[in-house]
Amino acid sequence: MHYNIWFNVCALLVLAVLLILYALKFHAPFKKYCVFLALMLLSTVSTIASICNNTLPGIAPIWVLQLSNTIYFLAHNAIPPMLLLYVYSLTDFSLTTWRRLILWLIPSVFSFLLILTSWFSNGLYWLDASGGYHRGSMMPLLYLVAVYHFTATAYCLYFRWNLIPRHEGISIASFLVISAGAMTIQLLFPQLLVENFASALCMMISQMTVQNPDLIMDSSTGMLNKRGLSNLITPQFEMHQPFSIGFLLVDNYHTLERNYIFSRLESRLVMLADYIKQHPGVTCSRVNNRLFCFFPENIHCTEGWNTLMRDLESDALLQKLQHDGIGIRFQFKTGCINCPKDASSFGELMEVLSAAATIPMHQHDSVMWLSSVDISRMRRRKRIDELVRTAVQDGSLHVVYQPVYDVQKQRFCSAEALLRMTAREFGYISPAEFIPVAEENGAIVAMTQFVAESACQLIQNAARNGWLLDQIHINLSAIDCIQGNLSQRILEEIRRFQLDPSALSVEITETAFTSMPKSILQNLTELSEAGVDILLDDYGTGYSNLSRLYSIPLDVVKLDKTLVDDITHSEAARIVLENTIHMMLRLNKQVLVEGVETREQADYLISQGVRYIQGYYYAKPMSGEQLTELFRNQSC
Ligand code: C2E
Ligand code: CA
Ligand code: CA
Repeated sequence: MHYNIWFNVCALLVLAVLLILYALKFHAPFKKYCVFLALMLLSTVSTIASICNNTLPGIAPIWVLQLSNTIYFLAHNAIPPMLLLYVYSLTDFSLTTWRRLILWLIPSVFSFLLILTSWFSNGLYWLDASGGYHRGSMMPLLYLVAVYHFTATAYCLYFRWNLIPRHEGISIASFLVISAGAMTIQLLFPQLLVENFASALCMMISQMTVQNPDLIMDSSTGMLNKRGLSNLITPQFEMHQPFSIGFLLVDNYHTLERNYIFSRLESRLVMLADYIKQHPGVTCSRVNNRLFCFFPENIHCTEGWNTLMRDLESDALLQKLQHDGIGIRFQFKTGCINCPKDASSFGELMEVLSAAATIPMHQHDSVMWLSSVDISRMRRRKRIDELVRTAVQDGSLHVVYQPVYDVQKQRFCSAEALLRMTAREFGYISPAEFIPVAEENGAIVAMTQFVAESACQLIQNAARNGWLLDQIHINLSAIDCIQGNLSQRILEEIRRFQLDPSALSVEITETAFTSMPKSILQNLTELSEAGVDILLDDYGTGYSNLSRLYSIPLDVVKLDKTLVDDITHSEAARIVLENTIHMMLRLNKQVLVEGVETREQADYLISQGVRYIQGYYYAKPMSGEQLTELFRNQSC
């Protein structure tokens, strides 16, 4: 039979070009690059051997032809199992599941034994005296094993379809279709040696798609991009191996972006990337325009990485950049994330890094080092952020009440409602911690509603029983006050429980007025007109703008604990407090002093004409039941 070798010659040319391109291109440290190289080499060997098989008869001795045929069959039949390995390497970047894979490859052992013994047994093929090739009776078995591997590959591909980028999946699927087509043609028309050409064609498709480094690389710095980084470290997380990742975040990137043309800024960032890359044994990644990550190439040899981290912490990087005349004033946040302690998955790592971006940095600082403590604080804040979003629904909130003493009536007259939160994983969480988070994510609005409802319920209960509870104060945050419908919602709650509006009052801090949108004034005016008292909370802690005392409808000014703390031993503190109290009284504001802890403080305040006092000296925050008990006893 006359065999057509021109397909093989073409295949060889294609493979030669691909191998040259492969050698020139960037290779990320992923197993898929090694497996792909193995595929190309197998294809090349198989093609060369096939050409020899068809050109050497009559020229070379029989043993050379036998050898060349054996090499051809070994290389050619190693391609289908290698393709299966390749599909595995696309999702399991370090081939950590290779043990499972071995089971899939058992039939290959059988086909290799068949090939190696065929020299003597003539099972697969035999050569006549002139070196002519003839198929043996076992040849269909070899095809069966190949079909088995292609089926296994298709099966793996099907189950990993969602894990593999679409274009990569399509590329591998076309590999299977082309190879199966070529196998059928060669089975039906043995003289057409198209199988190697088909393999070369498939390699070319893969080279352009799956193996395209642009997909995992940042083109300007030549570092891995976010996907590349994810591919590289996801297996580390899966293996639960502890490792550390350093990061460098250009904190003022957005300001720089506004002030410099993009190409200038980018060229300076490339200089920065080059500096990082200079450190030997460090794998670097540019996750986004402003964020770089780096970790040791080899866990057991971290010298280069340690030097880099030291340089970053000690300002050496900035000095170097300035020395090189970088001409742009960068501000960096840098630090080290210990995985899995600080982040146990790639997603969490990205979240920690984006939380790092939100930590405020001083204007004059150039480098801010984030320690492990900062990182665990960020993680805790993030978790609390999640918890507060659902706190009202999942019952982790309750309200406590701190009574206020009326000096004139010589009894407790009102109480302040204070939120408490407990979560299974953290236990008690202070309001100083969860309230700012709730303000940031907007959950505070539902929380305030919850407090208002609880307070109204308690007032209704007291009123029905005739207990002398005049009022409950609820705290409002700035976010509550800018809600267009705040006053309606509170008044609606008061109506629902059939209360007198004066039974509820609202406390608002000075900081809520820093910027004073119309809605705040409108809400407060509507509440005040309906009969709800307005208290100015924490007076004396903010930047007191005295004109507010008469430009907003205030009934009571609550003097902060800090104004009282030193009065027993500081003359200056007494002067400040006395004059503040007198000013408020002259402005016709009621004065409530909070944070009173001792009898001396209380006596002094009473001597200054203060009517309302709140503090641990009189009563600590207590549960609704305890408050009910207190007012019940007081009313007897
Ligand atoms: P605040 O409104 O100034 O509440 C007074 C805080 O001082 C309360 O702390 C109270 O327990 C504490 N305190 C009262 N008397 C004394 C005293 O004699 N000595 C000392 N050392 N502390 C005293 P708490 O409950 O931890 O609340 C802290 C802050 O959290 C509150 O400060 C308020 O700004 C915020 N907060 C609490 N509940 C709510 C709420 O329902 N809504 C809003 N928006 N904020 C709330
Ligand atoms: Ca308050
Ligand atoms: Ca206060």
